[in-house]
Amino acid sequence: MSDFVRKPADSTGTHCTPEQYEDMYRRSVEEPDAFWLEQAERLDWYEKPNKAGEWSYDPVDIKWFADGSLNLCYNCVDRHLPEHADTTALIFEPDDPATPSYSLTYAQLHTEVLRMANALKKLGVKKGDRVTLYMPMVVEGLTAMLACARLGAIHSVVFGGFSPEALAGRIEACESRFVITADEGLRGTKTIPLKANVDAALEEPDHTLDVQGVLVIRHTGGAITMHEGRDHWFDDLASEEDCPCEPMNAEDPLFILYTSGSTGKPKGVLHTTGGYAVWAASTFHYTFDYQPGEVFWCSADIGWVTGHSYVTYGPLLNAGTSVVFEGVPNYPDFGRFWEVIAKHKVNIFYTAPTAIRALMREHDEWVLKHDRSSLRLLGSVGEPINPEAWRWYHEVVGEGRCPIVDTWWQTETGGHMITTLPHAHDMKPGSAGKPFFGVRLLLVDAEGQPLEGATSGNLCITHSWPGQARTVYGDHDRFIEAYFSTFPGKYFTGDGCRRDEDDYYWITGRVDDVINVSGHRMGTAEVESALVLHPKVAEAAVVGYPHDVKGQGIYCYVTLMEGEEDNDELAAELRQWVRKEIGPIATPDHLHFTDGLPKTRSGKIMRRILRKIAENDFGSLGDTSTLADPSLVERLIEGRQNR
Ligand code: ATP
Ligand code: MG
Repeated sequence: MSDFVRKPADSTGTHCTPEQYEDMYRRSVEEPDAFWLEQAERLDWYEKPNKAGEWSYDPVDIKWFADGSLNLCYNCVDRHLPEHADTTALIFEPDDPATPSYSLTYAQLHTEVLRMANALKKLGVKKGDRVTLYMPMVVEGLTAMLACARLGAIHSVVFGGFSPEALAGRIEACESRFVITADEGLRGTKTIPLKANVDAALEEPDHTLDVQGVLVIRHTGGAITMHEGRDHWFDDLASEEDCPCEPMNAEDPLFILYTSGSTGKPKGVLHTTGGYAVWAASTFHYTFDYQPGEVFWCSADIGWVTGHSYVTYGPLLNAGTSVVFEGVPNYPDFGRFWEVIAKHKVNIFYTAPTAIRALMREHDEWVLKHDRSSLRLLGSVGEPINPEAWRWYHEVVGEGRCPIVDTWWQTETGGHMITTLPHAHDMKPGSAGKPFFGVRLLLVDAEGQPLEGATSGNLCITHSWPGQARTVYGDHDRFIEAYFSTFPGKYFTGDGCRRDEDDYYWITGRVDDVINVSGHRMGTAEVESALVLHPKVAEAAVVGYPHDVKGQGIYCYVTLMEGEEDNDELAAELRQWVRKEIGPIATPDHLHFTDGLPKTRSGKIMRRILRKIAENDFGSLGDTSTLADPSLVERLIEGRQNR
């Protein structure tokens, strides 16, 4: 039990004590219908649902609250007006700290949403239409999502860092006839030609597109070309008259969103209205133990599911205050995150391990010089967080005061699935913790046989939950194939997981990434965490490659802390280090020092590409459209160690 970090003594819970968690969890699995109908009371319904889950995993057919109707924009905005008209809904922090930030009350947000919804109406958007958003991280990105929800249109947000080619593919896949974009976006010192990229996407020869209207938000004022008849300035179409909310059946689609593409071609995941809303609202409420008036900041872009559920929908459904950050963690310097926290007195901060590791690499002074006394809770999402990075986040950023919620979930799950709750559970660095209410986890072996007790296996979920994706848009067979065919009758997450003696869950990495060395199965996350523990190592990615004797060998890619030098001595030292930390079986065969690791645009390490390079088989690297820096791959191939 020595690896527990006790929750700080002064954290007096309001939402969920340990006993309440146990009681509520038991009820959520024993009487799911009653439990979820109660949670559905968090929302305002036109027709209240009488039934909760109606689902089957064989055949795959999932419905929640199917006889209920509601509108999600109404729930995020309009219904808060009587009590929260003057409560701050959004705080916008621009890319350049010299540009003034501003905030919007719920009353002002309501006006902005009306302006956007009326503009979309004039563009021709109707219930059921797909609308592609290709936006910078600005308030209009959120109002565009909300306006779509208001009209009953289905939004598909494509991250603004994607190429015209990737954008075209995503417009085509969901037959979107409308695009919302801005003239340009800003990220650090870079200007992103969003509108020019849309123009290029719409001319892509390999795609059949039928886009009739493009709505353009003026952001930087940069010069762009407007196509007569197709393109419209938002300001020309916006108007403030009332625009009623479209009543939606709970199972009407809310959005399509593409997964990060870590393991292959991204999937266009479809979420529906009622179940997703209940999931976003309740996970936000419990996981972050959100208190009225608190400032919540999730640093994710709205192009990812984290931005959907915890920048937009979760906070607004709870009448919360959400920070919308346009910039990046290292501009104008490595202190930007902490400067923003001090400036807006952020109480809850939610970010990704990739950002934590990048900032940990720099001097602590960047953190220490900014006042972080407003912080109450920290969160992590997106990848396993190495215990070393966890401790730095806890000790240095959170001054040892703030609990950390390490939330495991996926685009397909809509919201948190495994996490500790701040007042209910002690934390273990590197473990996501316990299942959220209603989540029924099962570890199975390669044959699908259930595993009991403290053990490792393939992470499956046996019962549906409200926030579950319903299908892959336009390709239900792919949905079944991807999630329900490996272990029939169960949802398979694709992740490997260990359950310890305290029933805490530890994500060990993608199942495809498990390595088998001389008959010993090892999660890549474990070897990576051992490497990151070394004071000179900033980040590590470990993959297996075919080895004549051992079956698989261990190939480690390592980036070093700022100012450290790579050489043979350090390589030898790191081999010894891993040997000592885990055991001789985990001794790295190859150490490859690099100045960076290939990542998806959402910041996840793309191990499948590293595997190819380690296998000395880099002819076809698979889908690389979501790779953040393609030139890095060339450098990695040049520096490969296994020739
Ligand atoms: P694709 O499905 O296209 O390969 P992806 O799985 O990276 O991409 P996302 O839905 O963004 O797309 O990410 C979900 C995955 O991220 C999870 O399956 C898991 O592997 C990883 N993950 C997310 N949060 C955590 C966490 N707290 N701890 C460990 N892993 C996490
Ligand atoms: Mg995935």
